[in-house]
Amino acid sequence: MAAVQDMASTYQARGLPSRHKRSAQVIVIGAGPSGLQAAYNLQRAGATCLVLDARDRIGGGPVAADDYFNATSHPRVAELAWGLGLAVEQQSDEGKDVVEGLGASRADGTPNLSEDHRRSFIRVRDNLEGLSQRVDVSRPAQQLPNYGAMTVHELAVSQGATPIVQKLANAWTSTLFGLDSKDVSALCFLLHCKCAGGLLQVLSEMRSSEQSVRLQGGVEKLCEELAARLQPGSVCLSQVVERIDQTPGNKVVVTTQSGDVFQCTKAILAGPAQCTAIEVAPELSEDKQCLLESAKPGFSKRIALVYDAPWWRERGLSGCAQGLDGSISVVKDTSRDIDGFYSLTCFVAGESGTELWQKMDDERQQSLLNHVEAIYGDTVPTPCEIVDLDQHADTFSPAPACLAVPAANLRNLERDQWQPEGSVFFAGAEVSYVLRGHVEGELASGRRVAEEVIYALRPMPEAMSSRL
Ligand SMILES: Cc1cc2nc3c(=O)[nH]c(=O)nc-3n(C[C@H](O)[C@H](O)[C@H](O)COP(=O)(O)OP(=O)(O)OC[C@H]3O[C@@H](n4cnc5c(N)ncnc54)[C@H](O)[C@@H]3O)c2cc1C
Repeated sequence: MAAVQDMASTYQARGLPSRHKRSAQVIVIGAGPSGLQAAYNLQRAGATCLVLDARDRIGGGPVAADDYFNATSHPRVAELAWGLGLAVEQQSDEGKDVVEGLGASRADGTPNLSEDHRRSFIRVRDNLEGLSQRVDVSRPAQQLPNYGAMTVHELAVSQGATPIVQKLANAWTSTLFGLDSKDVSALCFLLHCKCAGGLLQVLSEMRSSEQSVRLQGGVEKLCEELAARLQPGSVCLSQVVERIDQTPGNKVVVTTQSGDVFQCTKAILAGPAQCTAIEVAPELSEDKQCLLESAKPGFSKRIALVYDAPWWRERGLSGCAQGLDGSISVVKDTSRDIDGFYSLTCFVAGESGTELWQKMDDERQQSLLNHVEAIYGDTVPTPCEIVDLDQHADTFSPAPACLAVPAANLRNLERDQWQPEGSVFFAGAEVSYVLRGHVEGELASGRRVAEEVIYALRPMPEAMSSRL
C-alpha cells in the first residue's frame, strides 16, 4: 500500500486531489469488447477485477446505432448476444452488391469484370489468399527476404493486377486500415488477412450477404449487457489512465488523470493502440514502443445518408457497394426496417478521404453525393438527411481499429508478440488472431488474456515458493 500512498502524494504535490484508492487482483484498462470479456471471464474464475475507461460510456469503438455480423463466422458474438438476450434481427440479404464503374456484382459476389480483368482479379485474389495463409503469425517477418518493403500496390502489380484490379486492392486497404494500397506494406496486409481468416474471408466480410444479422444498439449494447453481468461497481467510467507503475513488491499501481489510484496484482491493457498516451514504468519493451510509434495512422469517417425509402432495393441492389475512384471506399445498408428507417452509410477513407475532409461542409457534401451517384452509376434520390456519424469522435478509439505496421517493424512484432511485460498484459485488436478488426476477434483476445492472467495468478507450489 506504500506505493499507492506514494503515488497519491505525487498527485497531491502536483496540486491534484487524490480522491479514491481502490484495489483488486486485476485492473482492466478499456471497457470495450476485449476488456469486458476479459473481466467477465476473470470474475467467473473467482478473481476480483475492476475495469477503468476514459470515457463516460461503456463499449469502446466508435458509437454505432447497430452493428452487423454473420452468426456463422462470428460465433462468439452470436453466443454472447443470444446468451444475453439481446435483440438481433435477420437482415435482408437480397439484392446484388455494386462496384463503382462495374455495376451489379455477379451471382457469386465477385465484381462484374470483363474477361481479361476477371482473369487478373482471380489470379491476384487467389495468389494473395495463398500467401496470406502461408504467413506464420508467430514469425510474421519470415517472408521479409521475399517481399521486403513491397507495398500492397506493388504486390498486386507483381501478380499481374490490371489497373481496375489495382483499384480494387486499393479499396481493400482503405477499408481495413484507412490507407491507400501504396501506403500499406504487403506483409502487414497478408498478416492482417491471416489473423482475420485469410483474404477470401476478409473479402466476404465486406460483402452484404455476410452482414446477415443486425445487433440492435451495436457493440455498445453488447458491452453494456456484458458489464451488467459483472459484480456491481466493477466498471469505473471517466477514468483516463495516465500511468501504470510496477513496483518492486510485485504490485501494479494505476493512476488516472483525476488523481484516483488503483492497485492490483495484474493489469490488462485492453486496446493497446488506443492507450498510447499511458506512461508505463518500467517502460514498455523497445519493440512495443517501435510498434506503437511506427504505424502510419489511417483515415476513416462514416457518413449516413438517410432516405424516405430504400430506393436501392427497388433496383434489385443490396445497397452494399465499393467505391474505386474517390473518397468513399465502402457503402453499407444500415437501415432499420422495423422502424421504417432507411439509410446507407458511406465509409470515407484513405488519402482522397483526407482531402475531402479538408473541404468546406457544402462542398464536401456535394462531392460525396456525386461520388455516390458515380458508384451506383445512375441518378440517386436526394437524401432527406446527411449525418456525420463521427462528429463527436474522441481520441480514445482511433478509426480504423487496426494498425498498419510498416514492414521494417515486423521484426519488432516477431520478437515481441505483445507478450506480457511483468504484470501488465495485452488484449484487443492488435492481439487477436481470429477475425482481427471485428468484435469477434476482440472477444477472443479478451478470453485468451483472461486465461493468461488466471494462470499467472495461480498460487505457486509450496516447494517453489520456499525456494524463492
Ligand atoms: C467505424 C467502425 C465500424 C465498425 N463496425 C464494426 C461492425 O459492424 N462489426 C464488428 O464486428 N466490428 C466493427 N468494428 C470494429 C470494432 O469496433 C473494434 O474492433 C472493437 O471495438 C475493438 O475492441 P477493443 O476492445 O480492442 O478496443 P476498443 O473497443 O477501442 O476499446 C478500448 C477502450 O479503451 C479506452 N481507453 C483508451 N485510452 C484510455 C485511457 N488512457 N484510459 C482509460 N481508458 C482508455 C477507450 O475509451 C475504449 O473504450 C468497427 C470499427 C470501426 C472503427
